[in-house]
Amino acid sequence: MSLAMISISRFARDFGKSCVSELRLRPAVLLIFIVMTDCLFCKIIAGSIPSKKVYEDEKAFAFEDIKPVAPTHVLIIPKKHIVGIDQATEADAELVGYCQLVAAKIARERKLEHGFRTVYNVGPDAGQTVFHLHLHLLGGRQMHWPPG
Ligand code: AMP
Ligand code: ZN
Repeated sequence: MSLAMISISRFARDFGKSCVSELRLRPAVLLIFIVMTDCLFCKIIAGSIPSKKVYEDEKAFAFEDIKPVAPTHVLIIPKKHIVGIDQATEADAELVGYCQLVAAKIARERKLEHGFRTVYNVGPDAGQTVFHLHLHLLGGRQMHWPPG
């Protein structure tokens, strides 16, 4: 390990210790903070990474997918950092359903009266690549079944 790496890891260790002991942060709270500051979609919500915003309220944020696979491809995310559906708890039930309602609202605004699809990809078999819960809203073309 290089000198720089040792210095960085010592700094991280000491910073973590002082957050827990001096700021009296619980280790779990500190861990959530570290995950959130390193999460792409948390950064998009915070505005530190740019996005094409479609919708925002106090609970949810929606933006255009950077690599759309349909004429409408919007991602709806809860502002709360949840890793994925498999990590969601009963306390998240309202938020998970709320994202579906936001998707339906956007679909109405975009006049997707012929139909649309909402998808939560979960885990590697489903191709999940970003680990902040996100609902894909796809529309504006004929969808196929079964999906690929
Ligand atoms: P998933 O594969 O279900 O985890 O979906 C992640 C989605 O996030 C993909 O469709 C990506 O194209 C999209 N994505 C990744 N980075 C960005 C970004 N910076 N802005 C908008 N969409 C993104
Ligand atoms: Zn996040």
